Amino acid sequence: MTMMNLEAMAKFRAMYRQNISPNYSGGLHMLSVLLVGLSVIAFSLSQLAGASFFEWIVFPLTMLVVNFAEYYAHRWLGHKKTRYGKLFYSRHTGDHHSFFLEHAMDYQAVRDWRVVLFPVYLIFAFIIGLIFPVGYLLSEAVSMNVAFIFSAAAISGYLLYETMHFSYHIPRGHWVEKLFIIIPGWNALRHLHVLHHKRDKMGEANFNITLPIFDFLLGSLFWQDPDILNAELESGL
Ligand SMILES: [Zn+2]
Ligand SMILES: [Zn+2]
Repeated sequence: MTMMNLEAMAKFRAMYRQNISPNYSGGLHMLSVLLVGLSVIAFSLSQLAGASFFEWIVFPLTMLVVNFAEYYAHRWLGHKKTRYGKLFYSRHTGDHHSFFLEHAMDYQAVRDWRVVLFPVYLIFAFIIGLIFPVGYLLSEAVSMNVAFIFSAAAISGYLLYETMHFSYHIPRGHWVEKLFIIIPGWNALRHLHVLHHKRDKMGEANFNITLPIFDFLLGSLFWQDPDILNAELESGL
């Protein structure tokens, strides 16, 4: 990473922060997403009536579909200009990737959460535009249980994405980061995302945020030893 990149990042951060509304609250932002998501999961699970083993299989299957959706949206909408994904492209490639670079991954204030988390309306769009129609189809075609298991799993996938992505941007040494580090494999998953934040890699590698299933299957998994990355920084590459 060159000094130029660092300077441009510092400039971008100052500008981005200036444009955050004074009414913005990072805590409220996170709380709203969690509250809506967890309520949908709790409600969906409370509606189940003696779900069978085969109905429960829909849970991991849905999570797998969400894993693909995460990959697809990130790779082909977040990093490619499309007519329908314009807003997401500018928020992601434009804002998120200008704000965080591979050696500057930590948010510095709670207000910075604005550039880490999805906007609150997205979870409502996800529920109304996806969970309702697909859930309805499943309830008609298969069973009510399957519709609610799908709904619980889809929102779980959404919250998992948000949680994992957020966790990768928690400042190193923060007590919450120390809790994540205990989770086996988490450190490696974070490193994959750190590598994705390299300017020359963001358009081609590590699009999964949770488990890198589709990066592996579609050949876009990229690994570089953390020591090599640090050496690159020191030599000013
Ligand atoms: Zn990120
Ligand atoms: Zn990205």
